[in-house]
Amino acid sequence: GIVYLNGEYLSAEQAKISPMDRGFLFGDGIYEVIPAYQGKMLGFAAHLERMKNGLQELEITLDYSQQVWRKICEQLCEKNSGDNLGIYLHVSRGADNKRAHAYPTNITPTVFAFAFEIPPPPISDIDNATTYSVSLEQDKRWQRCHIKSTALLGNVMHYQRGAAAGDQETILFNRLDEITEASSSNVFIVKQGVISTPPLDNQILPGITRWLILTILHSHSDFKVEQRVITKNELLNADEIWITSATKEVGPVIKVNGKLVGNGQPGKVWQQVQSLFTKHKFDY
Ligand code: PMP
Repeated sequence: GIVYLNGEYLSAEQAKISPMDRGFLFGDGIYEVIPAYQGKMLGFAAHLERMKNGLQELEITLDYSQQVWRKICEQLCEKNSGDNLGIYLHVSRGADNKRAHAYPTNITPTVFAFAFEIPPPPISDIDNATTYSVSLEQDKRWQRCHIKSTALLGNVMHYQRGAAAGDQETILFNRLDEITEASSSNVFIVKQGVISTPPLDNQILPGITRWLILTILHSHSDFKVEQRVITKNELLNADEIWITSATKEVGPVIKVNGKLVGNGQPGKVWQQVQSLFTKHKFDY
């Protein structure tokens, strides 16, 4: 495919980055993934806002305007075929001439972007939905999980443990047995018709899909929705569990640690919420 690197469009084989890049040596960078369906991007402004916040937190200065980013995303959609694309954006602090922990001054950030194929958007059909079985593990990542850092080893190891058990995700709980998020998704539960999700803090990524779901529910439904601490026990006794991310949207979980959630099918509330999401996801 065709990728973007520091102002140029190149074939992936031609794109070269220095081994002294701090993204390579330290995982010193920020990334985003934005879905694009037939060239139409989902949550573009919110994704860029989150990237801006991450760069600010790492004190990486980059003078790319929102229009410049939009152009890059549009070009990648145009130059790479496919109706369903994920656009990956990556900014690292850049390449230095030595490997020193301290942030170097006066180096130029490395900006890389590429498009990859993703599944078609999820459908709100109980019988044909993509469903997820998940593992459950103690969260062993760092205390800055609100930063969308390219240093993803903790997430990768959690995901891998689930995969080794035959699962497609791993839901995490902290040392107080409170649910945080999953290795690459946020978590929601439903109990007696009430929808709950953990509050935003340093333990979780502020997911754009999480935000979209909350926004859509507040303006288009009368569901009771709570952002509050959810315990491991509450998760294990929930009527429904969802994992949410840009490509999964509202992902119905049907099994936790091998045990069925409800009757082992996507739930009725899931169906309504995924259907509302499908209807309103491009409004924001
Ligand atoms: N949490 C983590 C750790 C993630 O990696 C992701 C996916 N980027 C999410 C949550 C979901 O975020 P979003 O809805 O913005 O894709």
